[in-house]
Amino acid sequence: MSDGGRLLPADWQQGPRYGGAYTFARCPASRDLSRADVAILGIPMDMATLYRSGARFGPRAIRDASGQLRAHHWDPVKLEPPYDRLRVIDYGDLDVYPGYVEQSVEQLQKEIAPIFEAGVFPVILGGDHSTTLPVLRACAAKHGKLSLVHFDAHPDFWEPAVPERPIHHGTTFRIAVQEGILDPAASVQVGIRGSLSANLIAEARAAGFHLITGEEFADSGVEATLQEIQRVARLPVYVSLDIDSVDPAFAPGTGTPEVAGLTSREIMALVRGLRGLDLVAFDVVEVAPAYDNAEITALLAANLVYEFLLVLAER
Ligand code: MN
Ligand code: MN
Repeated sequence: MSDGGRLLPADWQQGPRYGGAYTFARCPASRDLSRADVAILGIPMDMATLYRSGARFGPRAIRDASGQLRAHHWDPVKLEPPYDRLRVIDYGDLDVYPGYVEQSVEQLQKEIAPIFEAGVFPVILGGDHSTTLPVLRACAAKHGKLSLVHFDAHPDFWEPAVPERPIHHGTTFRIAVQEGILDPAASVQVGIRGSLSANLIAEARAAGFHLITGEEFADSGVEATLQEIQRVARLPVYVSLDIDSVDPAFAPGTGTPEVAGLTSREIMALVRGLRGLDLVAFDVVEVAPAYDNAEITALLAANLVYEFLLVLAER
């Protein structure tokens, strides 16, 4: 709906929240970048997963779950809806070539570049974690070298087994570091754990990443972690949130779940604590609805996007 030409999400009192065509939180479907501050978009691609696929249906599931979100927030200090300050559109999904990882990554970079060029803030619904690579590349082309704030059970810093075809969802940040588009010394990884080698963690740290394992996070907590993020992330910040950073008890719908992760409350608080950083892009990846129970993973992802919009609206 519109108010004096301004695009606004549909009013929940005029038509049910579960009705109509589905966009994120019923924000207007639009590709008019001249009338937007934030573009929410999906990247329905999961060809680069190593274990369970299914994240190609993530954008759709997150949009579906987002129907439950009203514009306002439960917190009395944040009752003002983010949409009062931000013009948020749902840009739809970008085009990928199912089955073709390299071609898709190339295509995605071209599709996302105009959003950065227009000065519109992209909020991306993945997709497996390889979908972050083309966005990072387009983002760095606009903003220069980036800080990464990365929530994940995995550092996604694996050495590619096939060097001439290096892209899969576990090599994203190794490639990004090699390409010089992010500065690991100005980047933080949070929640790393599970069945991965100590070597891999050592390699990511040797590259310069401030890596906080799941256990270290459990010991130090949200506040200390946010202080570390605020201290380290001094360049334009790309926030990449792999939903498997969260414990499978709260987020089972993902391809490579690792037990003993963050709670939904902790990840919400971490996102909320990103205010004040020089934020330039945000993605939520690896939501695989086929493994979800009662849509709890998709609902968490939708709420994390909403929480992030509140952070953006405060700027
Ligand atoms: Mn990941
Ligand atoms: Mn992961």
